[in-house]
Amino acid sequence: MKAVVMREFGDPSVMKIEELAEPKPGPGQVLVEVKAAGVNPVEAYIRSGSYPRRPELPAVPGGDGAGVVKAVGEGVKGFEAGQRVYFKGVAPGLHGAYAQAALCQERQVHPLPDTASFEQGAALGVPYGTAYQALFHRALARPGESVLVHGASGGVGVAAVQLARRAGLTVFGTAGTEKGRVMVKEQGAHHVLDHGDPAHLDRLMELTGGAGVDVVVEMLANLNLGADLKALAMGGRVVVVGSRGSVEIDPRAAMSREAAILGMTLFAATPRDESAIHAALLEGLKDGTLKPVVGRRFGLAEAPAAHGEIMKPGSFGKIVLIP
Ligand code: NAP
Repeated sequence: MKAVVMREFGDPSVMKIEELAEPKPGPGQVLVEVKAAGVNPVEAYIRSGSYPRRPELPAVPGGDGAGVVKAVGEGVKGFEAGQRVYFKGVAPGLHGAYAQAALCQERQVHPLPDTASFEQGAALGVPYGTAYQALFHRALARPGESVLVHGASGGVGVAAVQLARRAGLTVFGTAGTEKGRVMVKEQGAHHVLDHGDPAHLDRLMELTGGAGVDVVVEMLANLNLGADLKALAMGGRVVVVGSRGSVEIDPRAAMSREAAILGMTLFAATPRDESAIHAALLEGLKDGTLKPVVGRRFGLAEAPAAHGEIMKPGSFGKIVLIP
């Protein structure tokens, strides 16, 4: 099978196509023929060597994908060959999603309903899992509250907008381009703002009648955290989903609102969190309220270009690789 292999850390060109032997599923494992693989920023950080979690090399990148079950190992009860699935996470070793087949543990695989394409399935695991964990397990967002999805045009942002809208929150979403803002509105945001406009949070305060929002899901905390605190309502919560550096904040802004800054990492999701996430995603996919937006597609050999693209502004939903 063809796979993208990384034999050293470095710039995107370290990812090269190689021919690998197709793995055989061991006990409790599922082999998935990958029809689409999700490209996440974390894979670019890992590839660069700057991320604290470094896999042993050589490695096949990618943990998100969707496709059809090719074979199952001994003891697998929930899946059979031919079934449509998406997966989040892969077995260790040369088994990642940037390949024609990926090897997963059974718990990492989930049924993909017919209402979602394989490309949409590849947009679920990390982005929708992160958005769900941030909104409902960290911020404890409730129907009737308001949320600012600060960076709503990318993979996690679109997921957060759809999940929050589905749960009965008032949704404010930001994007850096007009095209992104139109899409964010179409995905269910009640109001859209331009995070490139220095006055966008003043506009948010106007739109909330000066009250601020209950929750902020923050994609670029190193730029926005200080201002987010001042845009929170009493008892508000900021969930730090993404950050690419440090930032100065005024603690008084948190103090006077009894606000909370909540970090989150999907790596810390418990099995209970995961089962809630995937049950909710299945229902949302089936009833049509969750519809991942796939903006760009690349071939496996174009993985370096896809990694270049994921780090650029002008996001439009999800980037996927088609093996
Ligand atoms: P993505 O698809 O590349 O999207 C990036 C988002 O950030 C876009 O909506 C982009 O908007 C927005 N952005 C750019 N400048 C911004 C600004 N000044 N203020 C607010 N938002 C801004 O990436 P993703 O997959 O959605 O991931 C988003 C971030 O979360 C990344 O940093 C990623 O590493 C992190 N993440 C963390 C976890 C976790 O477990 N903590 C899990 C998944 C992802 P425009 O392009 O429209 O400007």
